[in-house]
Amino acid sequence: MRGVFATMLAVYSDDNTLHDPDHFISRGVQIAVRESPERVVQLQAALRDGGHVIRAPRDFGRDALLSVHDPRYIDFLANAYDNWQTLPQPRGPMVLANSYAMRQMKTLPTSFEGQLGFFLSGNSVPIGPQSWRSIASSANCALEAADTVRGGAAESYALCRPPGHHAYADLAGGYCFLNNTALATQHLRGRFARVAVLDVDVHHGNGTQSIFWERGDVLTVSIHGDPNTGYPWQVGYAEERGEGEGLGKNLNLPLPLGTTDAPYLAALDHALAAIRAFDPEACVIALGLDAYEEDSSEMMRVTTAGFGAIGARIGAQKWPTVIVQEGGYAVDALRRNLGSFLNGFLSTRGA
Ligand SMILES: [Zn+2]
Repeated sequence: MRGVFATMLAVYSDDNTLHDPDHFISRGVQIAVRESPERVVQLQAALRDGGHVIRAPRDFGRDALLSVHDPRYIDFLANAYDNWQTLPQPRGPMVLANSYAMRQMKTLPTSFEGQLGFFLSGNSVPIGPQSWRSIASSANCALEAADTVRGGAAESYALCRPPGHHAYADLAGGYCFLNNTALATQHLRGRFARVAVLDVDVHHGNGTQSIFWERGDVLTVSIHGDPNTGYPWQVGYAEERGEGEGLGKNLNLPLPLGTTDAPYLAALDHALAAIRAFDPEACVIALGLDAYEEDSSEMMRVTTAGFGAIGARIGAQKWPTVIVQEGGYAVDALRRNLGSFLNGFLSTRGA
């Protein structure tokens, strides 16, 4: 036991607050975006509460992003806001697509307007004037945290915003643009032969699953609300197990609406046993805090103490671990829920 005073390296940048989408359409109603800059303020407060060492990330550059993303997609995201300004009026203040390409429609148009619906999968990924800076910064936070563990640290935490686990190699969705968790995972592969991803966000980690779908060297495990009852709806079911080299290297554990701490922890034990069987040399935790009982996602009923128990069980595995922040929308509870998770995690780390 290192006790409650143990600390870890956390990576954060002020640029993560710049992305500031103003609205979102849900069930036909315009609502305020839940993935707000205020989330960062609360998460950062938790890091200060814990006395963790906070460091800004380096810029790992475009090549690092290409480790899991399509270059055409990176160019699209980086230039989207400027290109939007060239479209005729009337147009809104943020980049949004009108028509979405189901991926049976395979042609990538050369026009910016045609590419909008190809690379953006819904209205939850608006792009404003500063969004790319936040998106790139968030990715750099994940890469910096991963680099620390690659260099020998036992653990690190990346305060990523916007989140990333719904982003595919070439598709944004669910508030996510670049897949921070996948970038951290691939960076760890530069040292570690087998890396496991454990996604505890209440929504299925569909982008991460897709990126590593045919990979035998990366195990992806996701515990999430039944996708038949919430985002991402069409993916995240138990029968999805990977293909080719990746067959059997993807595990989905969907749980019913209203799941409380005890059944959640039972599912976590099952997930951890599967990861131990894979014998990873390092692990990435996609840490959503939206399984919380008061989260607007309204999918599960995990308590603040429950997040501490989740952290403790993960920490006890002793894997070199990168924790990447994903969702969590009960803004007033983020501070205590992140604190609870990190305290639990660190309480079981020592020799
Ligand atoms: Zn989520």
